[in-house]
Amino acid sequence: MKTDAPGKPEAGATKSSRRPSKLAEQRLSGIAVSPGIVIGTIYDTTEAPAEAPRRDITADAVETERTKLHDAAALSRKQVGKLKTRLTVLPEEAQEELEPLLDAYILMLGNSRLLRGARKRIGEELLSAETAVQDEAEAIAQAILAAKGDDKAGLNRRAGEVREIARRLTRNLTATPFRSLKGVPAGAILVADELTPADAALLEPGKVAAVATEEGGADGHTAIMLRALGIPAILGCHGLTAAAARGDMAVLDGGTGQIALHPDATTIARAKEGLAAQAKERARLGKLRRLPAETTDGQQVELQANLEIPAELPLIHQAGAQGIGLLRTEFLFMNREDLPDEEAQMEAYRAILEAMGQDPVTIRVLDWGGEKDMEALAQGVPVPTGPNPALGLRGLRLLLRRPALLEEQFAAILRVAHLGQVRVLLPMVTVPSEVAQAREIFERVARRLRRRGEALPEKLPPLGAMIETPGAALAADAIALEADFFAIGTNDLTMYTLAVDRAEIDVAHLYDPLHPAVLRLMQFATEAALRLRMPVSVCGEMAGNPKLVPLLLGLGLRSLSMNAGSIPRVKQAIRSLDIDDCARFARRVMEQSDPKRIGEMVEEFAIKTHDK
Ligand code: PEP
Ligand code: MG
Repeated sequence: MKTDAPGKPEAGATKSSRRPSKLAEQRLSGIAVSPGIVIGTIYDTTEAPAEAPRRDITADAVETERTKLHDAAALSRKQVGKLKTRLTVLPEEAQEELEPLLDAYILMLGNSRLLRGARKRIGEELLSAETAVQDEAEAIAQAILAAKGDDKAGLNRRAGEVREIARRLTRNLTATPFRSLKGVPAGAILVADELTPADAALLEPGKVAAVATEEGGADGHTAIMLRALGIPAILGCHGLTAAAARGDMAVLDGGTGQIALHPDATTIARAKEGLAAQAKERARLGKLRRLPAETTDGQQVELQANLEIPAELPLIHQAGAQGIGLLRTEFLFMNREDLPDEEAQMEAYRAILEAMGQDPVTIRVLDWGGEKDMEALAQGVPVPTGPNPALGLRGLRLLLRRPALLEEQFAAILRVAHLGQVRVLLPMVTVPSEVAQAREIFERVARRLRRRGEALPEKLPPLGAMIETPGAALAADAIALEADFFAIGTNDLTMYTLAVDRAEIDVAHLYDPLHPAVLRLMQFATEAALRLRMPVSVCGEMAGNPKLVPLLLGLGLRSLSMNAGSIPRVKQAIRSLDIDDCARFARRVMEQSDPKRIGEMVEEFAIKTHDK
């Protein structure tokens, strides 16, 4: 592996302008979250100057702007602190260069002249926080540059550091999901500290060729969104933002999690071969579209798609999905300032139902809170705060606290339910009575609509529960008495069972759906449903991994919902399996206590089936 040390920034210089023209190849690794090879040019959003337009404020906004400044400084300190902890992945030479620089940044983001001055300008000159930061940073930089002394390079560097910190603060102050993604050139590899799910929802798959970020975990919503859009991506790539600069050429492989900056001729030639193989594989999998998802002994498996944003509908058709097993309705509430009213929601559901014909569509009501807080949500939905938002007012809990939100969403769904085969799904259930409470509201809304003469289906759509917390899984037999179907959400189930944030890179090594605790909970919930002959599916990311199909079928599952792009490979796996073999395999897996051993068994079984 060849490496090159990222250089220390010169004053006022961008990362690309401070580099020699020919650099050695540098390889970095992250978490492979969305497959695909891309040869492209880096578009580094962390590099963007984030020039915020000058903005004056009124006297009553002073405290708000000061709070914003305080929060942006705290966030910036956290970001730089994280960069510092990750220096260890860089060559020693680069570490020695960067460490003092990052220390200086952290100091500047504390009680520094820059922040004190900006605070003062907000109050005295009635400036927005970002304008105050820019003005103060420029004043400090000019004072540094005007200082007497021979070390001109040193003065330039110090002034550059102040401007760099001002840029970071400004970026954090103006961080709306609409921000820096507008100018992304076609074919770019987008590089960022972090991409929120709402940012990802705005990406155009035809335009952004690939994504690579410092932060993020394998099954966070950003990863899910990128997979859904079919954008090759690597998240959690340490050292990336320090090493990559706008305009650099790179080869990204979302299947292996590797990115090569300044790729040499061999790497480019290999990537081209990979691209050709990829196109061949796509054509081969495309032929599976019309074939049934059936095991060698004739067991049918239902393969459905998860839908994050309507832009995925054509992909769902291409993949030959048998309906939508999880429609995440959060997209309706993202990247907007007001709440979507009943009519707007109805139109969105109508368009999806019409596109899906008579294929079943499972609409999950708003799942807000936890990791999704990062998204820009319409005003009017309270953002859960508190020390542990993921354990707070999330999902159904929030909706039961704000029943008007739930009523409106139920009404919008019910008014279009006659157009297709609708099911309604409740997120983050932990207590059976939550389902009963939701059902009461559901039925009340239906009665009201009927009184108004709305055309509702004679039989109301089934109302199901997500099984995505250990509590729900262990109480599955009781919840089964209240719910009409189960959808096992393995992403949150893994997170809550193992106490590992699904989007947090620092604990990503502990996030493992193959941990026996997670598998036992899945088995318990599946068996509770099967005993009552109640439909049960898996709609977490596990469902889209072809290697895990034997285990899921062996546990008794016959309905899987996944990102559309995974359907052909999962179907291919199903068509090579015998259900009795799967059951035997699952029994052997369930006797194991070591997640690593289970991972090995899964690999071995996949190879064995492949070689048959
Ligand atoms: C899950 O938690 O597994 C799930 C499918 O829901 P989401 O990923 O939207 O939280
Ligand atoms: Mg979930």
